[in-house]
Amino acid sequence: MNQQIQMVDLKTQYLRIKDEIDQALLAAVEETAYINGPQVKAFIESLKSFNQVKYAVTCGNGTDALQIAMMGLSFKPGDEVIVPAFTYIATVEVIALLGLIPKFIDVRPDTFELDYEQLESKITDRTVAVVPVHLFGQCSNMEAINAIAEKHGLAVIEDTAQAMGAEYIYSDGTRQFAGTVGTIGTTSFFPSKNLGCFGDGGALFTNDEALAQRVHMIANHGQRQKYHHESIGVNSRLDTIQAAVLNVKIKYLKEYVEARQAIARRYDSHFLNLNGLSIPARVTYSTHVFNQYTCKVADGRRDALKAFLQERGVPSMVYYPIPVHLQQAYLLYGYKAGDFPVSELLCKDVISLPIHTEMEIETQDYIIEQVNAFFSHGS
Ligand SMILES: *Cc1c(COP(=O)(O)O)cnc(C)c1O
Repeated sequence: MNQQIQMVDLKTQYLRIKDEIDQALLAAVEETAYINGPQVKAFIESLKSFNQVKYAVTCGNGTDALQIAMMGLSFKPGDEVIVPAFTYIATVEVIALLGLIPKFIDVRPDTFELDYEQLESKITDRTVAVVPVHLFGQCSNMEAINAIAEKHGLAVIEDTAQAMGAEYIYSDGTRQFAGTVGTIGTTSFFPSKNLGCFGDGGALFTNDEALAQRVHMIANHGQRQKYHHESIGVNSRLDTIQAAVLNVKIKYLKEYVEARQAIARRYDSHFLNLNGLSIPARVTYSTHVFNQYTCKVADGRRDALKAFLQERGVPSMVYYPIPVHLQQAYLLYGYKAGDFPVSELLCKDVISLPIHTEMEIETQDYIIEQVNAFFSHGS
């Protein structure tokens, strides 16, 4: 390999659409409408049309999107929000920041989604919401979650930061885009997400008009009319320049998803029969858009595999090494080791391999070869 292998290759992705991006950026710079410029409105239209959803509201990042969703739903301090123990910290952080109580739930060992079979047992009379995280790019079981939420009057906030472009598949075969299946969906345009900008960005999706208006107001200092503040809000905006980039890149999102899926299939076919490695499980109720290709390594050999690959120039990542309930900042909620055994085990077993939209066949082959070498030589 003469080129260094990367987890994500943003440079090559940019170079492939450089002319279009440069033109859009330059136009945004020259127009000088740096806040809420026409590109923001245009991107909101593109988002709605891509996701086939009635309302989209853009904001500063995916963490803000989660916070704004919870503010828009008017939860009160002390209300409980059910959230998986195995997720990125942002999902839980905003719950804590708003004075809400995170109620952790374990995840399923094969698909890493919150364990919907345990969901009902976590509901108390203070529960107001559940946050399915479509981890690594595959939707959670939304029909099961929505049914329980509906029965108990809970809001469903889909954390779609890793799953832009994934499709939820209902048992009758109809499809709906990730982030549009619950009460409200949130996403992130962080550069390494499936639809990434050149900095920070985020958005919310809903089909509920009143909720859409509320989150739009909250993201904008709690005002509908300038200098008239109805609610305590935040200042969270998608920059015009980022919207300009995203409005070009969203045209390629389908293609980007297909590129990731092709690599995943290739990895699958070579890793399927490896003893000691489990390839990412697929569910019948969702497509998988592979923001990450995350495997499980048996027998406590994950770190050995990681070191072996590193020595041979193959980067890998551990998403995530510590479950949220055992993070120092969250110990105050009173959870302890052993409370969520699946999440705790996954933190020891998972490994994410490089996957991105411009990955050459030779690079894939090299990675496949190295992974195979580790398991066949038993090192
Ligand atoms: C990236 C991510 C977020 C946060 O997005 P930012 O734009 O970085 O704030 C939230 N949840 C999950 C699951 C993520 O992967």
